[in-house]
Amino acid sequence: MTLMEDNKAKTGTSETGGTPERKNFVHEIVEEDLKSKRYDSVHTRFPPEPNGYLHIGHAKSICLNFGIAKDYKGLANLRFDDTNPTKEDVEYVDSIKTDIRWLGFDWDDREFYASDYFEKLYEYAAVLIRKGKAYVDNLNADQIREYRGTLTEPGKESPYRSRSVEENLDLFERMKKGEFPDGSKTLRAKIDMSSPNINLRDPVMYRILHATHHRTGDKWCIYPMYDWAHGQSDSIEGITHSICTLEFEDHRPLYNWFVEQLGIHHPRQIEFARLNLTYTVMSKRRLLQLVQEKHVDGWDDPRMPTLSGLRRRGYTPESIRLFADRIGVSKADSVIDVSVLEDCLRLDLNKRAMRAMAVLRPLKLVIDNYPDDKVEELAAVNNPENETMGTRTVPFSKVLYIEQDDFRENPPKKFFRLSPGSEVRLRYAYIIKCAGVEKDEKTGEVTEVHCTYDPDTRSGLPASQRKVKGTIHWVSASRAIDVEARLYDRLFTVEDPSGENWKSFINPNSLEVVKNCKAEPGLANVKPQDRFQFERLGYYCVDNDFKPGEPVFNRAVTLRDTWAKIEKR
Ligand code: ATP
Ligand code: MG
Repeated sequence: MTLMEDNKAKTGTSETGGTPERKNFVHEIVEEDLKSKRYDSVHTRFPPEPNGYLHIGHAKSICLNFGIAKDYKGLANLRFDDTNPTKEDVEYVDSIKTDIRWLGFDWDDREFYASDYFEKLYEYAAVLIRKGKAYVDNLNADQIREYRGTLTEPGKESPYRSRSVEENLDLFERMKKGEFPDGSKTLRAKIDMSSPNINLRDPVMYRILHATHHRTGDKWCIYPMYDWAHGQSDSIEGITHSICTLEFEDHRPLYNWFVEQLGIHHPRQIEFARLNLTYTVMSKRRLLQLVQEKHVDGWDDPRMPTLSGLRRRGYTPESIRLFADRIGVSKADSVIDVSVLEDCLRLDLNKRAMRAMAVLRPLKLVIDNYPDDKVEELAAVNNPENETMGTRTVPFSKVLYIEQDDFRENPPKKFFRLSPGSEVRLRYAYIIKCAGVEKDEKTGEVTEVHCTYDPDTRSGLPASQRKVKGTIHWVSASRAIDVEARLYDRLFTVEDPSGENWKSFINPNSLEVVKNCKAEPGLANVKPQDRFQFERLGYYCVDNDFKPGEPVFNRAVTLRDTWAKIEKR
């Protein structure tokens, strides 16, 4: 069974709290800990580094952390792991908060920053120095690397490792005061240079960096390393279950060592497999490159796997939560096909999106036997999946636009759309029969299709029982509005664009802009983020940025997964 099949069998977690209907291994660990009274209640956190926008991988972690808290009536904090002043920015902090709220989660007043704990971490470091468990080192970064050894060879002890407690305390304080240049000294934990786990070979706890921090300004010129800040921040917040991705498994002994040496609250770390998706990249470093080198229009470009990109594309919070639920949580690394994500969006929008008619590439169609100035308002269903969404009217008139693709002068077999002499139903309207075409004299291109309609076949009338093989969509030429459609394709041409030359796989045709599309007049007053199913075309979402009266629609997803077919051709 593939992962996808496996996941289809699973149902959603409970929306209301209480024991989840579908448990993963994290639930099981949490329940054990509650039962054995290791912890009285559950407290998780989502700990982003504010050095980029959140992506769909983060959504998996958010749903897991906030979901576990909800399932066991516990709490989840938002904590920014802001220990890297040169790469972090308030723009990222703000976007992260917006995205988490949009996904439907709330941290109440528990918005924390690792930088809130800089003072406390400094005190903790002094505790370790006093215990003889940390020392100031003069080796530079290259030397530290050299001394560290390899997986097969033990490391070498630094010549500064045996400094006295007094000397270490004095030097550490002077590091903090700014007496030494960047990179000239570090504070290191004194553990074991021959440990088989390289993370335990006297890891660096502090480095000197004269940089302005987006929250603490110039107060500090020493900054804690992630490995030193992370576990203690969890501990300070009373986190019970510190959920992180698999690459931190080997760091767990170090995190345990720190809290044990300090004798402080001990969270349980649980590692899970990070989400990987086909046809995209997920590392923030690479996403930043895509933005900076203008391969995309920004972090919220609808082709990006960021939450702001997915939102602009038309993804709903519900569809992303459904996705997180379907893919589940495990310890085995895997790559999820992006079509799983797209299916979740279809499933959600099918139930909720208003239907509308729009013609992307208009071809003029004239109904010869329809009165010249007559306009009929025909009833159209807003959502066949949801009767409560009601109906609307669409204007019908003598001159219409249909999709160029829906007419063929020389149709192949089984072409059930319009061709000379054939009949089709116009959605919500009449059966028409094609009488002939007009062509451009020079190019031979069909410029106009002529038809006759059968007045007895209007949708809803008894005679409309008459069956024809095809139904096509249309808009009234005189009443349609002009819209722009942006059709998105995969951002990369290969499933796995990892590796060093990943940029060579960027899909040059990932965006097609179609101007002068025609849409039913009801769409004149749409707002950003309104979502529609354009009948027979796909789900579309109104872009954030357009001139009044000239709406821009982003194609969120096609109606069916056409990609597999196209690829095989
Ligand atoms: P990147 O490697 O892209 O910079 P990161 O892991 O460094 O990502 P953080 O801001 O540290 O980014 O991530 C915050 C949280 O989100 C972490 O707990 C991390 O484990 C989790 N996370 C990040 N990427 C994924 C992913 N692809 N799947 C699941 N969880 C993820
Ligand atoms: Mg990280």
